[in-house]
Amino acid sequence: MSADSGLPDKLVDRFGRHVTYVRMSVTDRCDFRCVYCMSEDMTFLPRAQVLTLEEMATLGRAFTELGVRKLRITGGEPLVRKNVIWLFRQLGRLPGLQELTLTTNGSQLERLARPLREAGVRRINISLDSLHPQRFRRITRVGDLDKVLRGIEAARTAGFQRIKLNTVAMRNRNDDEILDLVQFVLDRDMDISFIEEMPLGVIDDHDRSEVYMSSDEVADLIRTRHPLVATTEQTGGPSRYYRIPGTGSRIGFISPHSHNFCESCNRVRVTTEGRLLLCLGQEHSMNLKQVLRNHPGDMERLKQAIVSAMDIKPRGHDFNLEAKPVIFRHMSVTGG
Ligand code: SAM
Ligand code: SF4
Repeated sequence: MSADSGLPDKLVDRFGRHVTYVRMSVTDRCDFRCVYCMSEDMTFLPRAQVLTLEEMATLGRAFTELGVRKLRITGGEPLVRKNVIWLFRQLGRLPGLQELTLTTNGSQLERLARPLREAGVRRINISLDSLHPQRFRRITRVGDLDKVLRGIEAARTAGFQRIKLNTVAMRNRNDDEILDLVQFVLDRDMDISFIEEMPLGVIDDHDRSEVYMSSDEVADLIRTRHPLVATTEQTGGPSRYYRIPGTGSRIGFISPHSHNFCESCNRVRVTTEGRLLLCLGQEHSMNLKQVLRNHPGDMERLKQAIVSAMDIKPRGHDFNLEAKPVIFRHMSVTGG
């Protein structure tokens, strides 16, 4: 409890879970249209509905003053937001913040890897689903693989501590590349996480249950070439990590359909519109934009709103690939 305001200095929910990690979506826009994430002709939010970079910086401050130690910037594609490096610089100097990270599709990294590193970002995740240019184009609908590969090289040169690839594993789309993608990270001393597709947003031309691949299937495939040794690392999220002996790389599996992680969940999300979302798989939320805009400069009120939101963090998610539609929000609004 801080002496002057009566506000706690940490965020604890009804189930005793300690929230120390916030993922913030800085834009719903993107220069790609990945089949599992967006439809081809997306309508994006009008600018006035989206938080300004200043509002996001204020939120970052409020969260860290409430004991949040890790901030991940995501989207949409965070690096297409104009002046986003300004935000990284503000967040990078917040006292108490131990980790500022980013999830990106890599398309802008050739230009921005160095400024990001200089702003205080030490680790980044880059999404990559295929190493074949045409297939990459089919999955992202518009993406240029070469540009992303150049972005990955720029990130390596800029000196990020560990670069991690994120790959959505899809049956008959990229399952034959899983071993190649593992080799790609082994050759570059990077990490990789394979993600199970989540039913977020309705996308007409993409049948999720047809391409769904479980983490267990992906792990079995990798074991045909490499032994996987489980690590004890707990993330408080849906990730499990393994090591391949004799290499520095970690192989992760993100299995949001499993419920095992909900009881140790340490995270919340802020959407592009400033909704504090208490669980990725549920709609419980608190409108922080309203607080920011109705009471500009009132840090205590903002922090009070965040603290009271902890009371509506649900016990767990409710994903089910068969029952559709489940959640109408696209991942790009929520922030992956
Ligand atoms: N644009 C950035 C990128 O692609 O890395 C950041 C945002 S993106 C929404 C974050 C992550 O979510 C990406 O790794 C993407 O592959 C993943 N993703 C998007 N839609 C998904 C879905 N329906 N199920 C599982 N992962 C998804
Ligand atoms: Fe854009 Fe990332 Fe969604 Fe792909 S996954 S469309 S890159 S936001």
